[in-house]
Amino acid sequence: MSASDILVFAETYRGNLSGSVPELLGAARGLADATGGEVLAVVISNDGGGFVDGLQAADRILLVDHPSLAEYSPEPFLLALRQVIERETPRAVLIGSTSIGWDLAPLLAAQLKKPLVLGCQQAKVQDGEIRVVCALCGGKMIAEVRIPEAPAVLMVLPGSSAPASRSGKAQVEKVAPSDLPTPEKARVVFKQWILPPPGDVDITTQEVLVAVGRGIQQKENLEPIQQLAELLGGAVCASRPIVDQGWLPLTRQVGKSGMTVKPKLYLALGISGAPEHVEGMSGSELIIAVNTDPKAPIFDVADYGVQMDLMELVEPLMEAIQEKKKG
Ligand code: FAD
Repeated sequence: MSASDILVFAETYRGNLSGSVPELLGAARGLADATGGEVLAVVISNDGGGFVDGLQAADRILLVDHPSLAEYSPEPFLLALRQVIERETPRAVLIGSTSIGWDLAPLLAAQLKKPLVLGCQQAKVQDGEIRVVCALCGGKMIAEVRIPEAPAVLMVLPGSSAPASRSGKAQVEKVAPSDLPTPEKARVVFKQWILPPPGDVDITTQEVLVAVGRGIQQKENLEPIQQLAELLGGAVCASRPIVDQGWLPLTRQVGKSGMTVKPKLYLALGISGAPEHVEGMSGSELIIAVNTDPKAPIFDVADYGVQMDLMELVEPLMEAIQEKKKG
């Protein structure tokens, strides 16, 4: 226990660690190196032992196991996390910018009466204070904030840090929670996961995504793009206007009110790059953007940019891929 430790909420989702956790551990390691503290990962579940392997980038792993913590529910999770924080007194608590994170982090900060910083992109220690670069108003403004108080609750955006490398030496400890509400006594009760319709693709697990935006202009143009995605061994996803028009289901939407994706390749066709879209795809390994407007903000996050009409690109690109596959 030390006031210089950095605590990571190691979120789990349906039996797996959330994709946000390795990056949170990476961000925590950078801070802990500067504060001289340790990285602590806390798993809140009914049986956290199975997650230990995936948390070896931490110095200590704290398992809070209890039957009331089998599925996410704000009251017991908040109480369990608070008990760990009161025991460990960390300098900062890192929580992913996920659906659960959005539920938990503001409640936690309010109950602790401590500062909450949303949209964290970078965090460092300067003059003994944590300083965070964060995206406000969906990324339209960037601010640097100082947080003199501890613990600071930081909600970290996906793609903000490199994942931490595993040390394999993490110490595992069980923490017994007390006075957790039983499901009958809780005011909010977990009922069920609402999953993508059976048969639809889970875009969060695809290595290649061909993303379409309003630049495709008409629904009929989706067909060749679907073929292109298949040729590349991936799936089609979209910006919000495409989903709002009913051309693709909500399960294919990338962004703030859609999915967060991290494919190896994200090919963005006719997408302007609004902050709400970029929030969901900036963690992709390689981003290639095609847009007629050379000033489109998507080019600011792209590794490669092509200024042209996307429909003039799709056919020749498919032919070139087919040729390459033949040869
Ligand atoms: P546009 O902004 O209209 O851009 C179309 C682009 O296509 C332009 O850059 C244009 O130059 C280019 N183009 C046009 N014709 C061609 C062509 N023939 N070839 C190549 N390029 C061409 N958006 C999301 O995507 N996901 C979200 O989850 C999301 N959540 C939101 C939540 C909130 C609270 C709010 C307020 C907004 C949200 N939005 C979201 C909407 C977001 O702000 C943008 O409006 C949206 O991302 C724009 O989509 P777009 O890039 O497809 O369309």
